[in-house]
Amino acid sequence: MTEERKDSEVLDGLIGQIRCEEHRMRTTQAHMVSAGFNIGTEEADGCCLYCRREGKVARRRKNTAYVDEKRNWMESCRECFQEAVEYYADLWQQYYADVM
Ligand SMILES: [Zn+2]
Repeated sequence: MTEERKDSEVLDGLIGQIRCEEHRMRTTQAHMVSAGFNIGTEEADGCCLYCRREGKVARRRKNTAYVDEKRNWMESCRECFQEAVEYYADLWQQYYADVM
């Protein structure tokens, strides 16, 4: 085995580990949100992007674990956010029921 090949194997292994670590972090954040933790901005006056009502909106992290981090966030009123959290919490439950 050449030194060069060994280096690339170490690097590949490391990249795999980083991906794994990121996924674990995303999943942990998702479960924290499911459990009621609020990760996001303070509520401010605005228009909800989902129900189109004027009121208090915030940009909050959802309980999802998309690789594309943008998709794990939503800007909405509290009601729309709560609905989304309940929806994804159900999906997680199904997901773990299938895995186990
Ligand atoms: Zn709304």
